[in-house]
Amino acid sequence: MNKFEQLGLNESLLKAIGDLGFETPSEVQEKAIPLLLQDDTDIVALAQTGTGKTAAFGFPLIQKIDPFNKQTQVLILSPTRELCLQITNEIKLYSKYIDGLYTVAVYGGASINDQARDIKRGAQVIVATPGRMQDMINRGMVNIKNISICVLDEADEMLNMGFYEDITSILSETPRDKNTWLFSATMPQEVARIAKEFMRDPQEITVGHKNSSSANISHEYYLVNARDRYEALKRLADANPDIFSVVFCRTKRDTQAVAEKLIEDGYNAAALHGDLSQAQRDGVMKAFRGRQIQMLVATDVAARGIDVDNVTHVINYQLPDEIETYTHRSGRTGRAGKSGTSFVIITKSEVRKIHAIERIIKTKFEEKTIPSGMEICEIQLLHLANKIKDTETDHAIDNYLPAIFDILGDLDKEELIKKVVSVEFNRFLNYYKKSKDLTQIPGKAGEVPTSGAVRYFVNLGARDGFEWMELKDFLRDTLEVGRDDVFKVDVKEGFSFFNTDAELADKVMTVLNGLEHNGRRINVEISKNDGAKNSGRRDHNGRDRKRDGGFSGKREGGSRDGSFRRDGGNREGGFRREGGSREGGFRSDRPKRDGERRSDSRDSGRRGEGRTSERRSSGSSFESAKRTPRRSKD
Ligand code: AMP
Repeated sequence: MNKFEQLGLNESLLKAIGDLGFETPSEVQEKAIPLLLQDDTDIVALAQTGTGKTAAFGFPLIQKIDPFNKQTQVLILSPTRELCLQITNEIKLYSKYIDGLYTVAVYGGASINDQARDIKRGAQVIVATPGRMQDMINRGMVNIKNISICVLDEADEMLNMGFYEDITSILSETPRDKNTWLFSATMPQEVARIAKEFMRDPQEITVGHKNSSSANISHEYYLVNARDRYEALKRLADANPDIFSVVFCRTKRDTQAVAEKLIEDGYNAAALHGDLSQAQRDGVMKAFRGRQIQMLVATDVAARGIDVDNVTHVINYQLPDEIETYTHRSGRTGRAGKSGTSFVIITKSEVRKIHAIERIIKTKFEEKTIPSGMEICEIQLLHLANKIKDTETDHAIDNYLPAIFDILGDLDKEELIKKVVSVEFNRFLNYYKKSKDLTQIPGKAGEVPTSGAVRYFVNLGARDGFEWMELKDFLRDTLEVGRDDVFKVDVKEGFSFFNTDAELADKVMTVLNGLEHNGRRINVEISKNDGAKNSGRRDHNGRDRKRDGGFSGKREGGSRDGSFRRDGGNREGGFRREGGSREGGFRSDRPKRDGERRSDSRDSGRRGEGRTSERRSSGSSFESAKRTPRRSKD
């Protein structure tokens, strides 16, 4: 008897489980399945995505359904369309040997009439997002008055997304004597409230610790200066050559900007956020599943329900606003028994958030340092050597060997090995040999203050058409902050100064730096002066000018162009200087990742030369890049 049989599952399910290749039940399955099969009970199961929870509720509900009865018997509510479709797909796979059992997915963005028609044909299981379900109820398109089971999947996510009222209203349409099975990764108060108000003596199942992170995931944080965040991201990717990751940003704008920069810099990246059409999102997810994308840059909302196994790393490019969300982010890796790593890139002011997260996930973070350029070169070199060793050779190459021997035959073994690996290695070496040390976190100049007001220099001024009020509006809109969050705006001819509270400093530096305004790259720096002693909010008096002037003076005498150019150079690190312009030499000079995985066909397509394999492979990734709309200029 295999372990699934011992749980009490019937023949049809066992056959389907055999087809799926599941050998042993996961912890949540072992705990939930016998309980749900034996008793008509409510349960609250605390289990993260990736633990096998869909089968934990899917197997028992399938076994409890009467396939000859064509009424809706089970309603599963899930937070997103993606998750809704995944659950539907899983339920269909599990129930494939049960004749007459139908499952319909109900979600926004598709024809409501088609969905209603499919339900009317006799669907016993409806998997729905709360918004669309409520809509169907309002239109009288669905009858859930006779269901016997209601599953609330990822309940915390649904409540996070503001579905409380929809959920309670939907539940009020269901019979009192049904059973409710609530699955949630975390147990915030709102979830507890639902359990209290709508469930009867629920039995509790906990996988791992409440709210804790999966034991398969290790958590690491990297302390960097705010302006080095993007460079740190690239180094983390380069230090993990086989990375297959989800990179989380806080806003759609950052998500798009980071993905675009990565694509420009030759990584297989794409953005996933709510401004993409459903077709674009589907395309990105398909490319990600197919591994044409190695770095999926996503917002929290868009990434909900990403059900891709084998994600090696989650990278928190920025920490989420709600630290509880971290559990969901990190749960995208370490799935289905695999191990995974969650990286967090933080600035000094965010260290306390790490400690708060540690308390929530009941796991310690390891503090790590961003690898140096030379460490990355070593990692890449060994990776390359292993790759050469593992590369299968094809007979087709035999035809070319005499000609190749003519060229290389005189080289001795050591020389040949050196040359072969140098073909790839030199790219990384050239790129990284003058790279800066990202581990210097100044308690000194340039540090992002943690409290009080912060004064910034920005290379936008009157000649860009700004008066103080317009600049204030522009900054406020771009940063998506409140009316009074930007203050003491002082506009000069070619540059300006402004203040925010320190807690916004990281956002200001991350969001604004690198954006473009009228074709010019915006550069923001923290001024040593916080402007706190300024006499007025937006005064243009000499005092202010003197202090700011002192700052500008350091920047090559305050010359408008001088300071902008110098800052621009700083931001991009040594690369521009090394490789020339971003569009030109820099691109061709930058290290490429694994040849066959590389994207950016804009690059390879434009250059006349390049390895065939690169060009061929980049095509598919370019598709994903093309699907990602360019950020509109402000
Ligand atoms: P879930 O937590 O439901 O999102 O499941 C995560 C992944 O694990 C899915 O791809 C499932 O197909 C897979 N899975 C679920 N149960 C098992 C099992 N017992 N053995 C192996 N894989 C499983």
